[in-house]
Amino acid sequence: LNDIELTDLRQQFPVLSQQVNDHPLIYLDNAATSQKPLCVLEAINTYYRDINANVHRASHALSAQATSAYENARDICAQFINANSSKEIIWTRGTTEAINLIANCLTTSIQAGDEIIISTLEHHANIVPWQMLAQRTGAILKVIPLLPSTDIDIQAYKQLLSDKTKLVAVSHVSNAIGTVNPIEEIITLAKQTGAKVLIDGAQAIAHWQVDVQALGCDFYVFSGHKMYGPTGIGVLWGKEEALNQLPPWQGGGEMIKTVSFAQTTYNELPFKFEAGTPNIAGAISLARAMTFLTSYDRQVLAAHEAELLAYTTAQLENMPRIKIIGAPHHRAGGVSFIMDDAHNSDVGMLLDLQGIAVRTGHHCAQPLMQSLNLSGTIRVSLAIYNTKAEIDFFIKALNELQDLL
Ligand code: PMP
Repeated sequence: LNDIELTDLRQQFPVLSQQVNDHPLIYLDNAATSQKPLCVLEAINTYYRDINANVHRASHALSAQATSAYENARDICAQFINANSSKEIIWTRGTTEAINLIANCLTTSIQAGDEIIISTLEHHANIVPWQMLAQRTGAILKVIPLLPSTDIDIQAYKQLLSDKTKLVAVSHVSNAIGTVNPIEEIITLAKQTGAKVLIDGAQAIAHWQVDVQALGCDFYVFSGHKMYGPTGIGVLWGKEEALNQLPPWQGGGEMIKTVSFAQTTYNELPFKFEAGTPNIAGAISLARAMTFLTSYDRQVLAAHEAELLAYTTAQLENMPRIKIIGAPHHRAGGVSFIMDDAHNSDVGMLLDLQGIAVRTGHHCAQPLMQSLNLSGTIRVSLAIYNTKAEIDFFIKALNELQDLL
């Protein structure tokens, strides 16, 4: 991205032009949630102003318009991740709900003694639903350990895999330390044992083009709000065959074909998994975020982020009291670090006084922090609209802080 393109891109994010604590906002908490471009805000507004109606129900014109926009959004999403069919796109509230959906649907097919494998690097959303499933069914949760480099230990993973493994659930990118996990290898190995694979793509989807068919997993899940869309909407993609094998989760309208007190039959994909009135504006405006992203050359956006990340990392490495946490290579979206003899929360608070938004704490990955022997980290996470000048200001502020703390 050249300077003109970057300036133009930033102008599409109105939030970025505000002052925080008398400083221009420098938003480096994109892994928590990204900001929204005008086209997404307008899509939400237009939907409620001009076409609000319930979908798939009525015979009237507005409802037909809402249905067509909602289903068109599903088509856009299918294209965005190269799904084989729009039937494979299930709208959810986000990554968390998508994982809970699968975990709940597996209740009847997982048996006592079956094994589920996750990694040490997971977000709580990719831990707790599996623990709950294990409690319900008597299945056993196995955790892939990390190497001293903090990379996933593939040899240990190979030893955990067996014909008892029913599901492997791993993140594409760690939200806490930014590691890009070798999911292609993880998927290939799981497939050799016949296990199903779910990939938590919450931290990958905004950073490069994901091709679910090329990956070969069974389920890929992500949240809209981390990829310039609104909160309250996310995606469960599943292979048609894998989704068809599952019973529905929530019951209600939309997910049924026929209901009588004696017997209910269920709707087809994708509606079988979408009980109740959906987040119509959410789906439409998330699809708008997708067309916003694909209106750019995504490789150019990815290169911009990679360059910024390398620049940030190099600056941090030069600071004597800073220790970067996590694998030195294969990192995307951000970097986590600690400052010797300083509390993470003090660093976060003092940066905020200069308008710089970072995240401190355990990043919803307490088991990872325990394994690294840390109470938490300071995380700087990037988006397409961040600039080198912002990183320079952040590094300068951090340098000044070192003398204070
Ligand atoms: N997994 C990962 C890797 C995440 O980063 C997050 C959000 N921090 C989640 C799952 C949960 O996403 P959500 O809160 O949007 O459901």
